[in-house]
Amino acid sequence: MPYTHIAQNIATVRDQIKQSCVQHQRQLDTVTLLAVSKTKPAEAVRAAFEAGQVEFGENYLQEALDKQQALADLPIVWHFIGPIQSNKTRAIAEHFDWVHSVDRLKVAQRLNDQRPDHLPPLNICLQVNISQEESKSGLSLAELPEFAAQIAQMPRLCLRGLMAIPAPCDNPVLQRKPFAEMKQALLTLQSQYSSLDSLSMGMTDDMDAAIAEGSTMVRIGTAIFGARDYTASH
Ligand SMILES: *Cc1c(COP(=O)(O)O)cnc(C)c1O
Repeated sequence: MPYTHIAQNIATVRDQIKQSCVQHQRQLDTVTLLAVSKTKPAEAVRAAFEAGQVEFGENYLQEALDKQQALADLPIVWHFIGPIQSNKTRAIAEHFDWVHSVDRLKVAQRLNDQRPDHLPPLNICLQVNISQEESKSGLSLAELPEFAAQIAQMPRLCLRGLMAIPAPCDNPVLQRKPFAEMKQALLTLQSQYSSLDSLSMGMTDDMDAAIAEGSTMVRIGTAIFGARDYTASH
């Protein structure tokens, strides 16, 4: 069995989440673990599912669709967390439960229009470029109110919250600043839109800081599946 380490890794990550919750006075059931399986084979996802993991995040559409087909027998909750090309929105609207990386109105409108009627509204997080990096996708904090107002008008989308990927930083204290800004932004929007309950933030290297500042969904790849090898397909 080549993927036996995955169950142990998930147990370790769940334990770290628990410790962070205790340390930062968060209730354990308010933090969801999203396993990020990009570049990893379907068998690795299956091993994680068998270890009790239900929510998975994918970045590359075709790769995700292939895995979904191979794993169609499992009741997995699929999250799309990668950059979205507007010609790919139909497949995303049809095959995912959540999209974390919405930062263009055109993409949001297409997801709304293309979400099949037999499925519930698509759960949406707006991606915020919280570290204001030139090269990164995401909205600025200033753009959020207008953008949220537009999304709230779209009946086939459910605006659930905000997502961010802060610039890498190896100081655990400094890591908290962008996450605190995200929490503040969520609180502001929550006063207007009752559907918002999610802060998608925290990865393998900054999970504790994100939980300290109110993350409700940590997106963990490396700590579960090991380092990624991009030379093969991406
Ligand atoms: C790859 C990826 C992750 C997981 O990162 P790790 O550092 O491997 O935990 C989380 N979020 C997004 C958007 C990603 O692209």
